[in-house]
Amino acid sequence: MIIPASALAQESTGTSPGWTFAIHGGAGTMDPDRMTEQQQADYKAALQAALDAGSAVLDGGGSALEAVRAAIVILEDDPKFNAGRGAVFTWEGANELDAAIMDGRDRSAGAVTGVTSVRNPIVLADAVRQDGRHVFLSGAGAEEFAGDKGLETMPPEWFATEARREALERLKAEQLSAMDVDHKFGTVGAVALDSQGHLAAGTSTGGLTGKRWGRIGDAPIIGAGTYADDRVCAVSATGAGEYFIRVGVAHEICARMRIAGEAAQSAADAVMAEVKELGGDGGVILVTPEGEAVFSFNTAGMYRGRADSNGLNEVAIFRD
Ligand code: ASP
Repeated sequence: MIIPASALAQESTGTSPGWTFAIHGGAGTMDPDRMTEQQQADYKAALQAALDAGSAVLDGGGSALEAVRAAIVILEDDPKFNAGRGAVFTWEGANELDAAIMDGRDRSAGAVTGVTSVRNPIVLADAVRQDGRHVFLSGAGAEEFAGDKGLETMPPEWFATEARREALERLKAEQLSAMDVDHKFGTVGAVALDSQGHLAAGTSTGGLTGKRWGRIGDAPIIGAGTYADDRVCAVSATGAGEYFIRVGVAHEICARMRIAGEAAQSAADAVMAEVKELGGDGGVILVTPEGEAVFSFNTAGMYRGRADSNGLNEVAIFRD
């Protein structure tokens, strides 16, 4: 049986032995020389707002799942990130959104791909999870399901931004790759340990600029870009999705920790090294039942933040 978010919220209020929360807003070739002070401050403020939203849920005794959803909704609504509003464009000039969420308590999961009108794809993914009949919905079917659940929709203009449209035009005109025009993966994600000892992970993205033929990235694929298992860890990834799918990054990290007893940082670093060996760039965030919050990325930077009930509270962009 799948536990509804509302029930989790109620069950988890009360004692508060400790919580941990981490977020990302994409990894990539962030370079302090290419970002103005103002841009750096804007990104940090946006990350802080999402970190604070999730932390407030956890601090109030809310569930890991709720914290993940609360932070990702904020990042989806922020046009600076490649998720929800501000998503990258497909080759055909549309914004097609992917998202997934997973509850480490019962490993229930919900995922959607190719969504074009739902304001917050992470909320839709969680509705799929709560419904429980299926895990992964696509395109028109996912939209129909969102309609049945009464989720908020927006017209195409809501998702479309000038900067992302220019990136598509440049990619086409100069025959560039998505990485050449984007410089960074702007996918967003969150992972949480709540004060009841439960884990959750969520990821939301527009994918890669110029994606074609109904391409699906790693973000909505359970085990690739998103995974949560109360026994070991919760993971959210960002990067060149094709490689993350081939490595099965999120599940692979959890499996190394569960079966081989590997430490979180070393498991994450080893799996990211595998991604790199195949030619892929990106990063992951994870939390463990012991309250660790770990980052691992093989790019110059990653928009990221972490907080816990012991007072840790930090956001960062560059490697150091
Ligand atoms: N991982 C995402 C994808 O391949 C891209 C990103 O992280 O921004 O769809």
